[in-house]
Amino acid sequence: MEGLTVPDFIEALEKSSKTCIIQIGVMEKHGAHLHLGTDLYLVREYSLRAAEQEYTVVFPWYYFSQINEARHQLGTISYSPELIWKLLQETLDELSRNGFEKIIIVNGHGGNNAFLNYFGMAQLAEPRDYSMYWFRPESNAEVMKKFVELTHEDKNDAHGDTRETSSMLTAEPDVVHLDRATQQSGKTSSA
Ligand SMILES: [Zn+2]
Repeated sequence: MEGLTVPDFIEALEKSSKTCIIQIGVMEKHGAHLHLGTDLYLVREYSLRAAEQEYTVVFPWYYFSQINEARHQLGTISYSPELIWKLLQETLDELSRNGFEKIIIVNGHGGNNAFLNYFGMAQLAEPRDYSMYWFRPESNAEVMKKFVELTHEDKNDAHGDTRETSSMLTAEPDVVHLDRATQQSGKTSSA
């Protein structure tokens, strides 16, 4: 979306059948070998690949996530529960005002799952001009089957582990410090 001019945007609305993806990540520690923005990189990659298969407008980087549980770790950017709710609602409202009728939230950060379940249910509290869908890649049975076949890893493997590291090696190989993968990742914050 950020790369479109206004005339492009008008065309994109039609071409996408008024569909937009909000790709949600977070800023959070991922060991000593992966970037704080790992979830951002990955969810953007998933969303852009999906949009290549079926044209969809992808909303810019979005990292206003539920991450209270990691506030003690350096590198975490955590906003209040009220703010993340309001910001997401206003983002949906703005996309709707701009003409989108289908808004797909692709979630790259596990800490948002409970939040997004309830946020989705709360959309039904009043009439809306759009439909909201939300998708977590790890809920997709086909994706998880491939992952287990390829890595022989238990599917509980998650944060900063084999799945995220190998996904990052595919999406952004230049930013993975594999040589640091066995190191401790350092200090916690004073919060
Ligand atoms: Zn992550």
